[in-house]
Amino acid sequence: MEIYTCPMHLEVRQDKAGNCPKCGGMKLVPLDSLKAKVVSKNNENGGVGSSTWKNYIPLAIIIGLISVTTIILSFRDSQLGNFAISTTMSYFMIGFFLVFAGFKLIGLKGFAEGYSTYDLLARRIFAYGYVYPFIELFFGLVMILNPTSKSLLLAEILVMSFSGLGVAIKLRKKEKFQCACLGTILKVPLTKITVVEDFGMAVLALVMLLIVT
Ligand SMILES: [Zn+2]
Repeated sequence: MEIYTCPMHLEVRQDKAGNCPKCGGMKLVPLDSLKAKVVSKNNENGGVGSSTWKNYIPLAIIIGLISVTTIILSFRDSQLGNFAISTTMSYFMIGFFLVFAGFKLIGLKGFAEGYSTYDLLARRIFAYGYVYPFIELFFGLVMILNPTSKSLLLAEILVMSFSGLGVAIKLRKKEKFQCACLGTILKVPLTKITVVEDFGMAVLALVMLLIVT
């Protein structure tokens, strides 16, 4: 079923065409057609939708820093004689959730708009785009306190694989557009890497769940 939105008011979501209830005048357009327009405009402005290796530098630096921190903390743990693989995994996941939530929160409106064009739930319920960064923040913070909580790990598996599913479906349609994973300041193209990111977190949480069970 087609979803319709107003080009000026992206928070408007309807399942049939008509006029925008916010501004009254504007004709609602299919959400998918709107996104295509946004992307082609971005491409003209210097290739936001293109996936050259340079687009991945910010992502590589961020993941690199989280990885280095994880290694150093784990080394300290092994020096103290309390190294555990689940703890090491939790360091990486805490870093990932907090940093990725942070970037989304910096440009929360832009993230919500971007996310609402491809996430399965945010496409229907625009407000979910505003809630999602706080879910990641919550995951990161609770993991500091209780990294092996089974209900937390289960929630992470569900949320991250659901998020990855939305990206995977978009990618199958071979549409090029911008990933909202690092908010709007950093232009990351939506590619297989985004799927790996989401499913990667789900897999890490699943492995941890199996280890602690
Ligand atoms: Zn409108």
